Amino acid sequence: MDIKSLLLEKAQVEYASWSHECDAVTVLGENPPRVFVKSDLHLLRERFTLAHEYAHIQLPWHVGTVNCHIDTTSEEYSVAAVAGSQEREANEFASRLLVPDRWISPMAGSLTSFERPAMQGMLDALACAEVSAHAGLIALSRHLLPGHAFFIDQNFAISRGTSWPGRAPLTDGEIEQYLERSVTVEEFTHQGRNIFWALTTEPSEPRFIVQKNPDDDRTPHQVLIACCTRIFGEGFAKSKAMSINGVVGGMINDSDLHWHESAIISVVRQRIEAKDDLKDVLTDHDFAIYLEKKAQTIVQKRSGPSQ
Ligand SMILES: [Zn+2]
Repeated sequence: MDIKSLLLEKAQVEYASWSHECDAVTVLGENPPRVFVKSDLHLLRERFTLAHEYAHIQLPWHVGTVNCHIDTTSEEYSVAAVAGSQEREANEFASRLLVPDRWISPMAGSLTSFERPAMQGMLDALACAEVSAHAGLIALSRHLLPGHAFFIDQNFAISRGTSWPGRAPLTDGEIEQYLERSVTVEEFTHQGRNIFWALTTEPSEPRFIVQKNPDDDRTPHQVLIACCTRIFGEGFAKSKAMSINGVVGGMINDSDLHWHESAIISVVRQRIEAKDDLKDVLTDHDFAIYLEKKAQTIVQKRSGPSQ
């Protein structure tokens, strides 16, 4: 991403040096907007700063003169919080601009094996985006299934639904404890930095071999109701099926992540496993068929002509 040219199309950019802790100042009230960038920034930090200032210009509700200190180590940046301050929004925008979803999502989605060579390949590709190692790992984490945690010095990046390691900066002890609790841990050198990759849940079990019965023309919903009736009894079947639909519904909202069928199945299984009131359904022999049929529907819908 040639962020500098992009910014120059929209703003007047000047480099200057100053001593206070501020990476850039953007004056949004002027036309074109003026951006002052601290002149001695490290290359990757400069790229991120330019993308961050570009965000302030492009997001129409950002106004005034903004003083930006791009702190990629803060939790504000590590965590996509619901409510957004301008700084957090600009960081998220910058991250998605420099590590575009449509570039990284298919790569991360095809990461079916949770083994070292696959992750090494992913990291090598990530380095091409020319963002800091931490910023890149945060972007990658957005596209991984629950259970992935990366540690880089005292900072971390985790995928959604992964257990929280604590407040950054983490102590060595906190990181050690987290790694000890993890199922697998791998160490990498990434962009010259030492990082740890931890999986906090079992890698998803191999896909159930679903006997495809060509005569089985039941809808996913019909299969689900049948499972829930067997496991929870007729009286509860409908309400339990609705709760399960809610879990799967969350996946459909994430459909821009381009997860393939087995990834969808594995994440739905993980989410249901975490719910004590629903997890018994996983023991039903037809539930794998429901998941398979449902995942197919999601993938088909996504590739449909409406999008
Ligand atoms: Zn800013």
